[in-house]
Amino acid sequence: MTDNDRTCVGLSEDELLRYGRQIMTPGFGEEGQKRLKQAHVLIAGVGGLGSPVAIYLATAGIGRLTIIDFDSVDLSNLNRQILHWEDDVGRRKVDSAGQKLTKINSRIDIHPLSLKITGENIQDLLGDVDLVMDCMDNMDTRFLINEACVKKGIPMIHGGVREMLGEITTLVPGKTPCLECLLPRDLSKKETFPIFGATAAMIASLQVLEAIKLLSGVGALLTDRMLFIDNSNLEFMMIDLQKKPECRVCGGLL
Ligand SMILES: [Zn+2]
Repeated sequence: MTDNDRTCVGLSEDELLRYGRQIMTPGFGEEGQKRLKQAHVLIAGVGGLGSPVAIYLATAGIGRLTIIDFDSVDLSNLNRQILHWEDDVGRRKVDSAGQKLTKINSRIDIHPLSLKITGENIQDLLGDVDLVMDCMDNMDTRFLINEACVKKGIPMIHGGVREMLGEITTLVPGKTPCLECLLPRDLSKKETFPIFGATAAMIASLQVLEAIKLLSGVGALLTDRMLFIDNSNLEFMMIDLQKKPECRVCGGLL
């Protein structure tokens, strides 16, 4: 999408009213809102992170949201996956999430896809996506998405939580390290871990703010740094990140 395309999109009176309190933000304005309206964001996973991520992207007026998850709602999800409610147990997560998101904001396009992200479908899924929100619960799929994003030059906002810990960084191909540079492959096991919903919501909120800044061009991004939060003592740690020159995914890009 070019800047010219973006400026062709206007805002209705309803949109000016609906998003008025964020349009007032210095430097953001109507132009920032138009950029959100033109954006296509893919949310990989609508669980603990993906639920609040999807809600706040929808309320902010992102024009097009693709939500992907192949799972169904389980009672044990409800302590943190706030798009899914008691009556949704047994439903496909994307159906449950899509229904709520449409009620939250009927003026945006929502594309629910109940499927597993694989090496075969990831390139097609990324299509004309502007940004990927990494809200997955397993490392194998995270690495798969990371590699495809690097190949296509699509930014990805990584979030991760477990126990009372959270982490977030914004990955921009060609500019920052990629996920493969940062996390060891031996994290690839899927396991059940302890988690409070509020910890997921905290990281998810930061992911959405990064998305809004990246898409609108306003503010400074959390690039080349990882924010770690330990909620057991409310400690915030900012770690500088470095690309691995020998990284098999992005090594040749920088
Ligand atoms: Zn890399």
